[in-house]
Amino acid sequence: MDLSNKNTMLQILADNGFSFKKSLGQNFLIDSTVCPRMADASVSKDTSVIEIGPGAGILTVELCKRAKKVVAVELDERLKPVLQHTTGGYDNLEIVFGDILKLDLKEIISNHLLNSDHICICANLPYYVTSPVIMHLLKSKLPVESITVMVQKEAADRICAKVGGKKSGAITVAVNYYSKAEKLFDVPKSCFYPSPKVDSSVIKLIVNKEPAVKINSEDNFFKLSRALFAQRRKTLINTVSNTLSIDKEKIRNALYEMGLDGNIRGESLSIEQIAELSDNIFKAG
Ligand code: SAM
Repeated sequence: MDLSNKNTMLQILADNGFSFKKSLGQNFLIDSTVCPRMADASVSKDTSVIEIGPGAGILTVELCKRAKKVVAVELDERLKPVLQHTTGGYDNLEIVFGDILKLDLKEIISNHLLNSDHICICANLPYYVTSPVIMHLLKSKLPVESITVMVQKEAADRICAKVGGKKSGAITVAVNYYSKAEKLFDVPKSCFYPSPKVDSSVIKLIVNKEPAVKINSEDNFFKLSRALFAQRRKTLINTVSNTLSIDKEKIRNALYEMGLDGNIRGESLSIEQIAELSDNIFKAG
């Protein structure tokens, strides 16, 4: 069955009484090239893969054809009969129903992927939770080598921006702390049904074995990263002081110790400078 054929896909969904829920980010792919490209970019035959949000299974089947094992996590239980119909022929697939943000992913790995030396994540992410899902996956420090995901184009540009560049944001810093991000290809909105308002891009995060910088506290590092971009028009000293209620003099002194100008803007710091500043301004005393 050709799931990239819109009429075929809609017929299968209708036969199973399924209707799209916008609130769950249910824009399904109806293109024959995107999923093979995504699957080729993320898995090989000795890789096991966790897919988030299989939907009607269009990416799932491409992953099953290539990977050692696939665990697909879907929130919407109404898709159970649809997925049984579309992916039932693959014995290397397990489907877990639940919220990716609430499930214990380490437990899923130890229950389903115990004998896998190489694990990756591949997904066409629901847009309403793109950043929380990416941060949840990275912060959980799972034994995964890479995360290949489709996200809104604007989010992809932000995530793959250079830390210290105009396009960067708190998510750029966080993603760069845990991984190296690259954009693979763009996907126009016409490749989905229902068609979303904006285009998408597929990005790949190669997870670092060690974080990009050494820091005293990850919580403080991420708190500072968010504050740096909270008020983009203000200087670093003002935005950090306003957002985190830290004395301006303390921030000025920390910048001075680092040889940085007091008028610098938060978005221009490198990841190493953010790490150093975070250790300095949050140090005891
Ligand atoms: N993979 C399919 C495709 O490419 O056509 C569907 C992708 S659609 C953009 C996102 C999917 O994620 C939907 O099936 C939706 O039900 C599911 N989803 C939404 N929120 C979720 C969550 N918190 N945890 C797991 N799956 C979720």
